[in-house]
Amino acid sequence: MTKCDLMKTGKDTVVTLTYTLRENNDKGEIVESVNADNPAVFLIGAGNLLEKFEGNLQGLEKGDAFSFALTSEEGYGEVMEEAVVDVPLRAFEVEGEVDQEMVQLGNYLPMRDQEGNLMHGKIIEVGPEFVTMDFNHPMAGKNLHFSGEIVDVRDASQEEIDHGHVHGAGGHHH
Ligand code: ZN
Repeated sequence: MTKCDLMKTGKDTVVTLTYTLRENNDKGEIVESVNADNPAVFLIGAGNLLEKFEGNLQGLEKGDAFSFALTSEEGYGEVMEEAVVDVPLRAFEVEGEVDQEMVQLGNYLPMRDQEGNLMHGKIIEVGPEFVTMDFNHPMAGKNLHFSGEIVDVRDASQEEIDHGHVHGAGGHHH
């Protein structure tokens, strides 16, 4: 008799899943929700995801439900004071004028640090000379709760493993 096992999630598999991310626990406020109409597709084992998130999905099969919590430390880390930065208003000038549409409270803007790394910051204060931006991850300092269902699991292709990302449906097209 042939033994026929369903494929399990693990290193170098591509997993399609739905999930709901809540703050703190399974009763917390919904932060993000991904349903079966537009599921998330991840390459496992490529360092793209939170380590503990991947760990909790390990060994699951198509149709399996999951529900787990991550501490802020396992998630996006603690809120760091030094990630709140005053940026001179000059930095937002376009042809000598401050771009007022860009400089709005609550706006997320892509900025480059001294090393040229791209970071996203949220404007939390607009002063006469400086704009205060918070570069902490929006979920920093928060415990996370994920629940959802595995929609599909398949082996990653060698090309996907080499590139470190998913190709085809839900992934890159090239
Ligand atoms: Zn690729």
